[in-house]
Amino acid sequence: MFDIGADSKAAPPDKAVSVGYYAPDGKRPPVLPRGYHLHPFDLSKPQEGAAFQICLLEENAPDGLRLELLSRVEDQWYVIVLVEEVPGAERQMRLLSGGADEVVSSRDPAQLALALKRGAGIAEKQARLRRRCQDLAVERDNLQAAIDNLPSPIFFKNRAGIYSGCNKAFEGFIGLPAAKVRGSSVYDVAPQELAKVYEEADEALMREGGIQIYDAEVRFATGEYRTVTFHKAVTRDSESGEVNGLAGAMLDITERKKLEDQLTRAAERDDLTEAYNRRRFFELAAEADRSVPLSVLVLDVDYFKLLNDRHGHACGDTALCHLVSLLDTMLDHPHVFARAGGEEFYILLEDCDPEEAFQLAERIRATVEATPHQHEDKEIPLRVSIGVATAGKNEAVNQVIVRADDALYRAKQAGRNRVCAD
Ligand code: GH3
Ligand code: MG
Ligand code: MG
Repeated sequence: MFDIGADSKAAPPDKAVSVGYYAPDGKRPPVLPRGYHLHPFDLSKPQEGAAFQICLLEENAPDGLRLELLSRVEDQWYVIVLVEEVPGAERQMRLLSGGADEVVSSRDPAQLALALKRGAGIAEKQARLRRRCQDLAVERDNLQAAIDNLPSPIFFKNRAGIYSGCNKAFEGFIGLPAAKVRGSSVYDVAPQELAKVYEEADEALMREGGIQIYDAEVRFATGEYRTVTFHKAVTRDSESGEVNGLAGAMLDITERKKLEDQLTRAAERDDLTEAYNRRRFFELAAEADRSVPLSVLVLDVDYFKLLNDRHGHACGDTALCHLVSLLDTMLDHPHVFARAGGEEFYILLEDCDPEEAFQLAERIRATVEATPHQHEDKEIPLRVSIGVATAGKNEAVNQVIVRADDALYRAKQAGRNRVCAD
């Protein structure tokens, strides 16, 4: 073996480089250029401790041993095979295919020095890459820990719509461990029809980019139904900017939605009878289709004060509820009614001409008369008077109500329990 340290032209490395060396027994190791130190390979110990990852291997190491060495060092090491004479291309190719990175003659110190320099450079890059990978792994673990701590299900999908990751809350939602979620499609985790809806929404988002926010009713693996807001956004390749998938989060808004529904109900309906209130009536009237005839009925209970006086206020209350349930069964969409106040109701009849409106009013009157209110084993008779008016072409609904009210007044004057048209 030649000493190559002294007359090497290659510049020494910036940091001291430790070079692993394996040779069959009795072989004298090469003397390396300045800055490189040999340490013997010890197959019984892991080699990670070696500061630098270059391995010098004598070409005549037994094949089995060389393979074992190469399998241990793999891509972490830069392997220089030392030969007496540089062999022919075929043998060199075999050594390179077998895991060697360089084949260098031990008689050519300048070539060996260059090979070591190349190895040192590559080993340094690998070490940097490894550190970067370790940093990324820490970053990934931190992010995972952070999203695992959030109560909202979070998921990631790739461009093909396959789940690529999720948090603990999503595992709970879907009822599968993250390892099973990864690699699955929506068809593996949701019923067919729902999966199709999800898939189409995902595909539209990834095609168009941006974000997607919508409310949906979802079923948790526990069987519980919850209302959630989906917040989905595309993810992009940091270099090309191409959409490479999406990230989604599900915010549980069940309680908020319940409160909103309660508030809406409270704002739109009368407490006692749960019929629409006057305010809601005028909102609905404003939305009515005015290209078809629109009629209004104003209904008032006859002698209601008397009913209260005879049977008590509580009986009056339940009588109003009874009346509302009768109106409910008689009036279907698009007709609507509202409690205008006290024992007076407004009824909006869409696509209903004067004749039809009068007939419907008469049916309501007759039904109320024929269906007494049951109160504490007593049958309390109810009667109503109704005024009917049909809207002129551009007539405001409150104007129509004034005319229907006049008709109601006439019905009362004429003896009650009757229908009068404007
Ligand atoms: P008319 O046939 O002329 O309509 O006679 P009436 O007694 O029905 O009319 P009036 O306007 O004199 O009396 C209406 C009564 O309705 C008076 C009021 O105490 C009662 N009333 C209003 N709101 C309620 C309610 O929510 N519950 C009960 N029990 N009574 C109510
Ligand atoms: Mg009355
Ligand atoms: Mg009244």
